[in-house]
Amino acid sequence: MTSTSFDTSLITDTSLTVQATLTAQHLINGQWLGEAVTGRMNPARPDELAALSPSGSAEDVDAAITAASAAQPAWAALPAPARGAILIAAGNLLLERQAAIAEDLVREEGKTLAEAKGEVKRASDVLRFFGSLGWAATGEVLPSGLPDTTITTRREALGVVGLITPWNFPIAIPAWKTAPALISGNTVVIKPAELTPLSATHLARALQDAGLPAGVFNVVHGKGRIVGDALARDPRIAGLSFTGSTKVGLGLQEILNARRARVQLEMGGKNGVLVLDDADARKAAQVVAAGAFGLTGQACTATSRVYVTPGIRPAFLEALVAEAAGYNPGDGLAEDTRMGAVVSRQQFEQDQAAVRTAVERGATLLHGQYDGDPTGPLFLAPAVLTDLPFDDAAVTEEIFGPVVAVLEVADYEAGLAAINDSRYGLTAGICTDSLALATDFAARAQAGVVKVNRPTAGLDLNVPFGGVKDSSTNTFREQGRSALDFFTWGKTVYTGV
Ligand code: NAD
Repeated sequence: MTSTSFDTSLITDTSLTVQATLTAQHLINGQWLGEAVTGRMNPARPDELAALSPSGSAEDVDAAITAASAAQPAWAALPAPARGAILIAAGNLLLERQAAIAEDLVREEGKTLAEAKGEVKRASDVLRFFGSLGWAATGEVLPSGLPDTTITTRREALGVVGLITPWNFPIAIPAWKTAPALISGNTVVIKPAELTPLSATHLARALQDAGLPAGVFNVVHGKGRIVGDALARDPRIAGLSFTGSTKVGLGLQEILNARRARVQLEMGGKNGVLVLDDADARKAAQVVAAGAFGLTGQACTATSRVYVTPGIRPAFLEALVAEAAGYNPGDGLAEDTRMGAVVSRQQFEQDQAAVRTAVERGATLLHGQYDGDPTGPLFLAPAVLTDLPFDDAAVTEEIFGPVVAVLEVADYEAGLAAINDSRYGLTAGICTDSLALATDFAARAQAGVVKVNRPTAGLDLNVPFGGVKDSSTNTFREQGRSALDFFTWGKTVYTGV
């Protein structure tokens, strides 16, 4: 088995058994193309390939952008309800195919079948939500200071947009970028994460089967530094929407800024929860565990640091350790698994290294492990760390795994200051019975999403989502109607009679 330099979960020996219901291919101008050269190891079953996919070149990106450019005027000219009908039909197809897609998603990403089914349902709902907006008027009619004049505002499509997506929600994130882009009249070239090529391919299949014209939605698989980079640099890409790590995102921002093209970045997080003495310790532990260990902790909104006031600390820690014990890691396809596999060997080693380093520096590990074998199934028990300094890397850096650090703070003000003392600002939570403190927290927490007595992870599709600081460009929000803003530009029209 030959390893690639990037991650040993990606291999070039494609002779192993593949369990997927389809082979990932590029979709360029309505044609399925590309030889399957990259094998993706199932993170729960090291002897099984979850997916095969092609590895695209700059020429593939060029062809996809050419097709998207040619298709854009006719797509934008189609009445918005007709565009919407295709999105709604594609959403319905995803729901019909939910079981098969969810199984492929588990094999390539590792999460549990229940989580995967929920994600496919979310992608379906997102397509249907934006499809229905095809019937909703956009723009305003406003009075003019001039006589016999009316002012109207319009939203125009950007043109061809590029989408670059991560592995952790491999069908929901492509869907929540694609749907607002298409309903607004743009055409799309998407580069999905290399670790999860199948899920985006299922999305492309559903759109094609629903009648989307050739060239309107194009997929190019492959490496970020080849396919993603070519997409970002092409002057025909009018806007790029990226979700992924802060490091890659900030690099892309420089490229897009240099040619003054629109860019939207949703990036890393280090989401904190403040647990106050007046909270119910058991409920607070459930909220924190769901946020920290659900989705194997591999959510940008996952809880990874918790600040507790002294009165509740012992009861909270006891309850949190009991909750952690309930998140038994295993194969996402097994019925009794509560927490799926870690996505890749590289991520598995990264998660364990974060725990090991914290323990070597004096932290207490109340639950969890850091001695797992990265060549076996990538199952990792959830980790609960305590007794760490506030500036420990496990408290300040994104780990992106089922690891949570619990620190003591003197009171509400100290806890709020600790929550805000971070380069990230995606989500923040508080567990309290005090309406006054919850309201104050909602106003003063430096995060794009605030959760009161609810897990930091988990979002509704109809409301704005995004972060502040190094978590986001903090200009355009994703999801809900606000997602349309990024994919359109405003025009003001004066009409005299
Ligand atoms: P990543 O940044 O490594 O990759 C994201 C995408 O960018 C992939 O498709 C990758 O191939 C591509 N890419 C990598 N290098 C590139 C380059 N030089 N040029 C262009 N494209 C490039 O992130 P990941 O490991 O796939 O995902 C995990 C990260 O995503 C975490 O940091 C997580 O917090 C973040 N994330 C954020 C959100 C959010 O909404 N804020 C949601 C999910 C995940």
